Amino acid sequence: MTPQFPSLNALKAILELATFLQWEDARHFAIQALSAPTMSLSPALRLSLALSFRISNWIDPAFAELMATPLSSLTLEDFVLLGPPITHLIITTQASIRAHRLLVAYNPFKPPNYDPTCKKPIVGCQCNWEAAWWDGLAQHYLHPDFPASPQDIVTKLETTLIMGVTTACWLQAVEIIKEQRVFELENDWKAEALRKIKEYEGTVFLTDA
Ligand SMILES: [Zn+2]
Repeated sequence: MTPQFPSLNALKAILELATFLQWEDARHFAIQALSAPTMSLSPALRLSLALSFRISNWIDPAFAELMATPLSSLTLEDFVLLGPPITHLIITTQASIRAHRLLVAYNPFKPPNYDPTCKKPIVGCQCNWEAAWWDGLAQHYLHPDFPASPQDIVTKLETTLIMGVTTACWLQAVEIIKEQRVFELENDWKAEALRKIKEYEGTVFLTDA
């Protein structure tokens, strides 16, 4: 026999009441039940519940999932659950990252000055670097399904020798890219969005979309 399980609405009601009454056992029960994989709550609903009822450890993973959700898949229900300020943060942060990735991929890095030991004609070294940027890095960085993370890209740059680029020029370029946080910048934007979202903790949201 399948055990009778409280419905989503019942669990939300228990969570709300238990949080209000500071009834820890019931609150714990509701959170555990809502976490069950069979509930398969959307990241928008998890973030909304987490902010409404201070389920702090749900915030980071739900936010990460929303950041990885294509904006075209966000449903009207997600919008209603998250409300305008949070939805706006998710959309603008995703859009900024996307615009930044396109800009970086489209403009192969040019060092401000060339390594003095570069033996090749400088134009050759730069040409090969740019070709590798377009053919290698950009394909991983802009991959529509599995875009490389900033750390993946930096590691790849650090560990991949490029044909026709001198070691000195390559090392110098990687050093400057790391210094300027070209790829890590998006992590800063995500952290900033997450910080702003956490300011809404304890705010009661509409959770009945
Ligand atoms: Zn060179």
